[in-house]
Amino acid sequence: MTEKVPCQSEGCTAMILPTTAAKTGGYCMPCHQEQERRKREAYILQHRKTVNLYEGLNDPVEILKIMHSPRQYDPLIKYTAYPRSKEQVYASLSPVEAQSMAVYALNLLGSGDEDTSRDILSSLMCFRDESIADGLPLLLEHEVYYPGILYRDAGPEVRDRLFDQVEWDDENRNYILLALAWIGDEQVVRRFHEWRMKPPQWAEQLHVVPELYAREAGWKLSDSGQRRDLFQGSSYAVEKREDPRDLSVQQMSSGFLKYAAADCPWCGGKLTRLVDVDTSHTALAKLNLPWERLQVDTCVICGCYGIIYMELDGGGMPSWSAYNRKPAYLPDIKSEEYSGEYLQVGPQLTLSDIPRSSCYAAIWELDSHSKFGGYPGWVQDAEYPDCPCCGRSMLFIGQLDWSDLEDYGEGIYYMFFCPKDRITATTYQQS
Ligand SMILES: [Zn+2]
Ligand SMILES: [Zn+2]
Ligand SMILES: [Zn+2]
Repeated sequence: MTEKVPCQSEGCTAMILPTTAAKTGGYCMPCHQEQERRKREAYILQHRKTVNLYEGLNDPVEILKIMHSPRQYDPLIKYTAYPRSKEQVYASLSPVEAQSMAVYALNLLGSGDEDTSRDILSSLMCFRDESIADGLPLLLEHEVYYPGILYRDAGPEVRDRLFDQVEWDDENRNYILLALAWIGDEQVVRRFHEWRMKPPQWAEQLHVVPELYAREAGWKLSDSGQRRDLFQGSSYAVEKREDPRDLSVQQMSSGFLKYAAADCPWCGGKLTRLVDVDTSHTALAKLNLPWERLQVDTCVICGCYGIIYMELDGGGMPSWSAYNRKPAYLPDIKSEEYSGEYLQVGPQLTLSDIPRSSCYAAIWELDSHSKFGGYPGWVQDAEYPDCPCCGRSMLFIGQLDWSDLEDYGEGIYYMFFCPKDRITATTYQQS
């Protein structure tokens, strides 16, 4: 039997085989690996270069091209981040510059870089509400159907090509239906209704009936075959201010993330008031609410597992709805063990009064954000809860993205409302 020898590291008690010692210079494998790691780290620190790809650049188009260019990870290069966000740079573009970004994106299709092309076109829509209708025939040519939101402003010609293609293109039918849903004009609504009355043969291959694709684009086909929107108007960002004392009166008109008075009947923890917004804020004005504040409560623990409805009384005060059905599964979390980190962020959040595109933060993969109004940014499939009173799909009013709130936060809380029955609902999707 071979005699083992002690590891050379000070304080390490491991005994190792002489063969290992010969390989590592007398150290056990964990110590050896740690030494190697430290050597690598020191090497990287010593040789790492800081590279500023934006140095000397003023042209926002050039800056965006760099922001969008795929970068290979290299531990020896530290890239300087651009001081403004992609959204800010997109917002600063002149119409001509935006057009030049669109042309650049369409040219990328020719060179086979569909992903970057998609990202740029989506950014133009979501950050600026730019119409990319002129580029759609080219997208079709390159069989780029996703994300369907790109087709929102399609004209009759593109729409009719999609009508034709959906009949025979088994491979892309799913995406084509989504694109049609985003177009959502009168002809599309009529066609979806026809498919309801007389389901096409290909519908058997789908997971859901064709008309349900409309939900992904924020609307549904009513019983009488009309389009009913499940979202409203522009988006209004929920923004984080570093210093909560900076807030103007208008900004103080919104409040976020406080404990509500009541407890959750399911887990016994405190309910959370996700938002408390002045109903005269432009984001809510269309709802014509009879109270001064709209308050949406939920349980941030149980709300991850099912819909939580709250009923608003004559003064707009929320209370737990008798319609709530306890989810089949709830975790065994004691509410006092749950991190309340998000509550500390509440006072820093404000609801912007600058309208942004209805598509703002509507593509979760592109740019996820907390906001009011516009299209929801679904992490998974669109999921509008039904109002437990009237049975109609509820209206999306806003979303809170937990990654905005906690360092390791993830997932989005979506908020809904039935104006007729004055019920709010929350759902959650895990990112
Ligand atoms: Zn050791
Ligand atoms: Zn609960
Ligand atoms: Zn209702």
